[in-house]
Amino acid sequence: MYDLIIIGGGPAGLTAGIYAQRARLKTLLLEREIVGGQIAVSDVIENYPGFSSISGAELMEKFEQHAKGLGLEIKLTDVTDVQDKGKEKIVKTSEGDLITKAVIIATGAKPRRLGVLGEKEFTGKGVSYCATCDGPFFKGQRVLVVGGGDTAIKEAVYLSKIASTVYLAHRRDQLRAEKIIQEKAFSTPNIKMLLSHILKEIKGKTGIEKVTLQNLKDNTVKELDIEGVFIFVGINPTTDFVDVEKDKQGFIKTDQDMRTSVNGIFAAGDCRTTPLKQVSTAVGDGALAAYMVEKYIEELG
Ligand code: NAP
Repeated sequence: MYDLIIIGGGPAGLTAGIYAQRARLKTLLLEREIVGGQIAVSDVIENYPGFSSISGAELMEKFEQHAKGLGLEIKLTDVTDVQDKGKEKIVKTSEGDLITKAVIIATGAKPRRLGVLGEKEFTGKGVSYCATCDGPFFKGQRVLVVGGGDTAIKEAVYLSKIASTVYLAHRRDQLRAEKIIQEKAFSTPNIKMLLSHILKEIKGKTGIEKVTLQNLKDNTVKELDIEGVFIFVGINPTTDFVDVEKDKQGFIKTDQDMRTSVNGIFAAGDCRTTPLKQVSTAVGDGALAAYMVEKYIEELG
């Protein structure tokens, strides 16, 4: 039996692992895909204190090495269910059941689909949700980025170094992204802003050839010749496998100490309802969640 099973190996999960190891809790971290989480595919991070500029992969490599150096056990497996049996929790995985006193859910979130015509058909054939992964395929070509948040604007700036032109379509006339990120995009000559525009359709034969966009200000519709479409319209939490109280979008509700509605199950990072989703906030969540698990286990006796 484990003291703690952490589900998710991004910044929140790895930080919880570091704190749990230091508290000498018998801990296991489970990760489905790659240790490091979403941020590991981020080109550059410029707001994590201590690192004025570092790639997501490098920062997460440091987190992982730190956790492993403290002896954290990490296993790659898919969690299908978490069952509350009072003082014990059963974590069901694709490789069998695990028993633990406490659980921290740190599963983060995944890119949201836009739901426009052609999106599904061209996913992996020109439609992408990851600029670092797929950007290099569009060297010297024209791409469209959809969205106005931090991810869309940061990734548009990244893509502007590879593509010939980056069109950025955002549904409102104001971007949502942090001002410092916006400034970079507005001062990049090959980023063409299409504010108050929505993507209606992605067209082509074997690959993308055109997109149809609607200008919401005057309702005109136009076509653009485009080879790649990058969609960054927000994130959906990965929380289906656990039955705790969630908000309308599926983010887990916690109190200020990271406790969920179920005793002994905690949540940290992007998978929980929180107004700011950053590596720095995920780190704080993970540290606090592990600390509260320690208190919880002491109280269990
Ligand atoms: P986000 O902040 O939720 O932004 C999503 C963007 O997509 C918004 O501009 C939104 O428009 C637009 N959008 C949503 N649904 C749409 C639809 N159906 N059609 C057209 N546009 C749509 O998501 P995010 O950028 O992925 O960021 C997620 C979280 O991670 C945020 O908390 C963000 O701050 C954080 N993050 C931080 C950094 C950083 O370096 N600081 C980097 C990446 C992400 P509206 O603006 O009109 O709602």
